[in-house]
Amino acid sequence: MDIHKTLLASLQKLARQHTEETLGNRSDYLGASDIGYCPRKVILEKINPSEHDLATLLRFQRGHMAEDIIARAFTAAGYSNFEQQVEVSIPGDIPLKAHIDFVFTSKTQKIKSILEIKSTNRIPDGPYSSWESQLYIQMGALAEKYPDYAIKGAILPIDLAAGEVEFFNGYTPQKTIFKGLMGKAEMIWSDYQAMLEGKEIEPDTDVSPLCGFCSHIESCPRFEAEEVPELVNAVDELQNLQEQEKHLQGKIKPCKAKLFNIVKQRGAIKTGGRFLKKATRSRKHLVMDRLEAFLADNGSSIDEFQESRSFSFLEIKKAKAA
Ligand code: SF4
Repeated sequence: MDIHKTLLASLQKLARQHTEETLGNRSDYLGASDIGYCPRKVILEKINPSEHDLATLLRFQRGHMAEDIIARAFTAAGYSNFEQQVEVSIPGDIPLKAHIDFVFTSKTQKIKSILEIKSTNRIPDGPYSSWESQLYIQMGALAEKYPDYAIKGAILPIDLAAGEVEFFNGYTPQKTIFKGLMGKAEMIWSDYQAMLEGKEIEPDTDVSPLCGFCSHIESCPRFEAEEVPELVNAVDELQNLQEQEKHLQGKIKPCKAKLFNIVKQRGAIKTGGRFLKKATRSRKHLVMDRLEAFLADNGSSIDEFQESRSFSFLEIKKAKAA
């Protein structure tokens, strides 16, 4: 059995089932999460949905698990006043729906609180703008549906591998932001319809570091240009972090060497509730001289057992002035 193929096929099937059960046919409407993303990507995904690879499918499963964990935790904590996967249609000229992970209702206080779960690899310092856009649409949708209720919103990112959670709280519906996002939704929908009718239009694009995860980057006109100015900040940030890393390595090395010299000479010590000691591990390594001699005796050489393997990395060089 090819485990990779089996997992890929079965997770693709599960993802399709889950989408049909919870979201229906995504090409028939715009979802609240669509509005925060690049319009071109959203439209092309509706016209030509890409087959997800195993890594993406596993990330989807991780997202469902994160939601289940939070639901079980709230139930264990005695909460029963919440609904999960709440679908709210937004009235207007275009088919627009919000799917909300959790809605908590207090009938006595007349409050409905949205909780959006985001499973992520690393908890960011602040919420991503796409998360906030989705939440503002969800809150606006609930505010229209339940005018007697006060609406609140929060985002809970969860990093399952690191066991970390964050809570970005205190959101309330904002009419101006909601109106702006509705305008964007109308524009995406009208470009989508025009493309379905075969009209030659170039939908709006939104270049960001997330373009690396876009299945339509190869045909994207923004990357045909000589410069991609929207990525300047991301490259600056990477280079700053690399500088800091170099600087920190320069500080870590001597600091470690001084402490190591102490334990090497005086044995284990305890300080501030921590033990420091000299640890020794052994690792097998090839003794090249002996191996080469052995191979030569047998009419062979090390070159016959070496092959080149290519690997990829990000290279950043200063561009020549035009
Ligand atoms: S590559 Fe980036 S800008 Fe182009 S369609 Fe994809 S997400 Fe949008």
